[in-house]
Parts: sequence; C-alpha cells; structure tokens
Amino acid sequence: MAGQDFSPPYDTLFGVFHGDWYDAADIYKAWATQQWWCAKKLWDRDIADWLRTGVGGVFQMSNYHIPEITPNHSMGQIADTVNELSRQSGVPLLGLVFNWERGGAWTGPKGFFPPRNGTRAFKEAMQALREAGNVGFVYITGYTWYAGMQYNPPWDSWSLYEAEGQPLALKQPDGSVNVMHWYPGWDIVRLCAAPEASAQMQVDLFLKCLDLGCAVVQIDNLPCGGSDACYDLTHDHPPGYGSWWSEAVGRMLAETRRRGKEKNPNCAMSTEGVCENFIPWLDLFDQRAPNMEYFGHYHRGLPAGGETIPLFNYIYGEYIGAYCAAYPECNRPEVLYWTRCLGKALAQGVLPTGGRYFPDPREHNPITIGFYRKIVRAAGEECYPYLMFGEMLRRPEIDVPIVTAHYCKFNYVPERGEHRMDPQQLHQVTDASVQHAAFRGRDGSVAYILVNVSEDAVNFEVELSDHGMGARRYTIDRIVDGDRTVLRRAASLPRTESVEMGPLSITVLIVRRAGSRKVAPGGHQH
Ligand SMILES: [Zn+2]
Repeated sequence: MAGQDFSPPYDTLFGVFHGDWYDAADIYKAWATQQWWCAKKLWDRDIADWLRTGVGGVFQMSNYHIPEITPNHSMGQIADTVNELSRQSGVPLLGLVFNWERGGAWTGPKGFFPPRNGTRAFKEAMQALREAGNVGFVYITGYTWYAGMQYNPPWDSWSLYEAEGQPLALKQPDGSVNVMHWYPGWDIVRLCAAPEASAQMQVDLFLKCLDLGCAVVQIDNLPCGGSDACYDLTHDHPPGYGSWWSEAVGRMLAETRRRGKEKNPNCAMSTEGVCENFIPWLDLFDQRAPNMEYFGHYHRGLPAGGETIPLFNYIYGEYIGAYCAAYPECNRPEVLYWTRCLGKALAQGVLPTGGRYFPDPREHNPITIGFYRKIVRAAGEECYPYLMFGEMLRRPEIDVPIVTAHYCKFNYVPERGEHRMDPQQLHQVTDASVQHAAFRGRDGSVAYILVNVSEDAVNFEVELSDHGMGARRYTIDRIVDGDRTVLRRAASLPRTESVEMGPLSITVLIVRRAGSRKVAPGGHQH
C-alpha cells in the first residue's frame, strides 16, 4: 500500500503456536533468556545483603496528603509503624515513604530536598528503620520536570525549568515542548534521556536519597510510558523515536547503579513498571496486578475482556525481583479486596505490599493488617527463595469458590483536584478465593504457594507434578502459616493432594527429590 510500507532493519519471522499463554511465553522465554539482558540471574548480581537473605514485603505510608498539603504521619510515626509490623511478623520490611518531598509529592527534580519534615527527622526515621533491621524506600521522578503543581501551598518551578529544564526537554517536530497534565493542576514536562545533564540529574537525585539514609530508590515515571520521541536537533541523537532512547536510559541506569553501590553496597534500584532491556541494572520493579482495578489500570468491561497474567515474572522471574505497588490499603473496610491484593501478590511472584495512603479510617483494619502480617512472614521466609529468585512454573488448575470483592476506586476528582479515592462508589471484581502459583527454586525444589484470601474455609484438590525433576521418589513438605511438617516421604509424582485451608491462610507445598537438602538458598532466617 503506497505510503504504508515499512522495512525494519532486522529480520522478522511469523508463526503460529498451539496452546495457552504459558506455551506462548515458553517460546519467547527460550529466546529471551539467551539475550544480553539475561547474562546474570538476580542471585548472581551485586545485590544488597537484605535482598539476598530476605524481606517480607513493603509497607507504604505518606507523610502528608495532597493537594491540600496537610501532615498525616510524622516520619517518626512511619518508622515506628513499619518497625512494629516487622517485629510482629518476624521479617524485615521495606518502609516506603510517600509524599516526603519539600515542595509536595512528585515535585522533582527541584522540589525534593530537604524533605518536608526536615533532613534531621527524615534521617532519624531512616536510622530507626535500619536499627530494627528494616529498609527505607522512596520514589524519585524519572526524566520528568514537575514545573507547576496546584497544591496548597502551590509548587512552582517554572523559572528554574526555563533556565535549566527547557534545553533538556523533549521537543516536538515543530520544536515546541508539550506540557502534560496527568492530573488537573499538574504541569509536567518530559525530559530527553540523551543529554548528559539529564542523566546527571537522575544520578544526583538517587545519590541524595541514599545520603538521607534510604536504601531503596524507585525511579518513577520510567519506563512505564514507553520510549520517548525527541526532535531537538541540538541533542546528540537522531530525531524521533529510536534505539538511542533505550541506550541512553541504560547508560544512566548503569551509572546510577555504579555510583549508588559505591555509596551504599546495600542499596537497591527499582523503576515504575519494567522493560526487559533494563533488567541488568534493576533489583526490583513496581508491579500492579494485585490491585490494578483500584488505581484504574484495569476494570471490567474493557474491550476484549482481559485477565491479568504474570507474564513478565513467568519469563524473567529469576532475573529481577518485583513488589506490589500503587497504594495498597490496610485501613479500608473493603477487606476482601485488600486480602485478595496480598494473596495475589504471591500468586504473581511479587513481594506483597500493604499500607495506609487513603486517610480514612485512621487506623489499620484489624483483619487486613492481621493477614498482612501472615503474608509478609510467609513471603520473607518459606516463599522468599521462590518469589525472589525462583522460576515461575505453569500452575495446576484448582477448583475453588469464586468470591466477589468490593472496592472504592482511587481517583482524582477533577473539580476538587484530589489524589484519592471516591468513597461513595463501590465497584466489584470477582476472583478465585484461593490465589496460587508454582515455582522452581534454585535448589531444584518445586513450591506450590496457595493463599486463601477469603474469610471462609476452602477445601480442594491439587495435582502435584514433577516438573522435570525426574526422580522416582519425592519428599513433600507442607507449611501451613509457618508450621512445617513432612506430608509425604517417598511419594511418586504426579499425585493429587487434598488441601484444607482455613480462612485467610497460606499453605506452601514443597516438593523435592527424596534425600535432597532441605532449604533453598535465600530466605530470611530467624
Ligand atoms: Zn532529545
């Protein structure tokens, strides 16, 4: 077709396959894991000690609300809350502090420092976390200049932007700059990744967070939006889209990691979403499948339907870690939605996250927070070697009741400019009462992780397979909410086991060749 033809500078191959998404993923995985971004598995990289030995998950709290900037949890309260949850559950946690920036949430690159509660309070909170064995965590902006934010008090860095940001901004074909408004009252400009000053800005933000005592820093706004096009002819890249963008981001990530590890070998890097060719420089990424209806990434009735599948973790689970992101709430009365979120995290192969972002109610919900403690304990102990370093396997089919969970949708009410949920409107989602997944650990054992997210007992059968272990006899351990027993000795596979799960409980079945050693490497030890 005239004007519609296209010649890519590489070979392409089309084919068909038979099967489901696992079969398609297996074809891709066989190729992908031979590529340069899979040169090293996560276990074999220069990761933080705490990431190797195990953490149970993340707890997220905010220092103030937006857009009316009103304090809610002091830095000391945040550290105390995370430390108490860690002590009660017996595993280290990552304390994710939201809304800590001087100028208001996301006011990067110029609005961050010193933190709104002051450098001293911030550093003391980070030290309190560290002394209790926990780890501080914040987000920084990625290649994004937040020039004007209609908070109260407002944030305005337009003059700084014009002096320093404009030369770095992405330019449209006519040379102009596109000012974006992700939420009403937010004026945002994307910066080009190619200029050296853009990379330097990212490195500086990261290192300043390490100086404040944070060990985990997420470069937010990257790469969730995909690659950027830029037509600024003074920048050192060909105009438009191109591999230059990915290469420039890769150089920035490599430099950030190198400088960060010099400062603190126990630091870790995360990004908002993920892209496979950034894997070598990242420890974690922000994964939202467990609660993606809440934040509005997914809802029923989307064209062609669609269900979340852990595709990226199925392919790359051994190469990068992930945690559940975007405002998981442990205070809301919509309990089942949030217990499902915690269970779904394990089924998606990601560290579970709880938190308190929405201001009401002011206290934890006792059921949700109780389940959070159970989930993070399991995630940081028996599940950890599989969640963080294991290979996700095809999960067995199980026949369990379907539950309907209600939730209020986190949204930004345009006329009021609020970055919070609408508590008047209940939405609903249906899902399996038992969330589950199967993994192979680095020691060759296979773990079946089963999480009953409902407040009813659930009984069902599950078929355990040998997943290529090829032995004649297997030992099967059963761990129910941390209590480990030997379920079978010298069992043959495949075999069907009956599973009786209590309300809000976690059962892990670990299958290994009879006589092989007991504990997969990685995983928090008391
Ligand atoms: Zn450019």
